[in-house]
Amino acid sequence: MIENPMVVDHLWRHLERTPKVVGTCEGCGEEILVGEDVYDFDGELVHQQSSCCMEFIANKSLCKVAGE
Ligand SMILES: [Zn+2]
Repeated sequence: MIENPMVVDHLWRHLERTPKVVGTCEGCGEEILVGEDVYDFDGELVHQQSSCCMEFIANKSLCKVAGE
């Protein structure tokens, strides 16, 4: 059976309009969509925004006073 190219094209365009979620930001916890600028930290994705990076590091680290 030969597929109708118009139908296939229509489906493809529909998919392209829908933002594709590729993961979750380890900082803010929001979804990361295709085309967004992110840092890939050993497979963990973080938005390239200072607030996300700060939250990510805060989640990963021990909070302490330097020198103590
Ligand atoms: Zn984020």
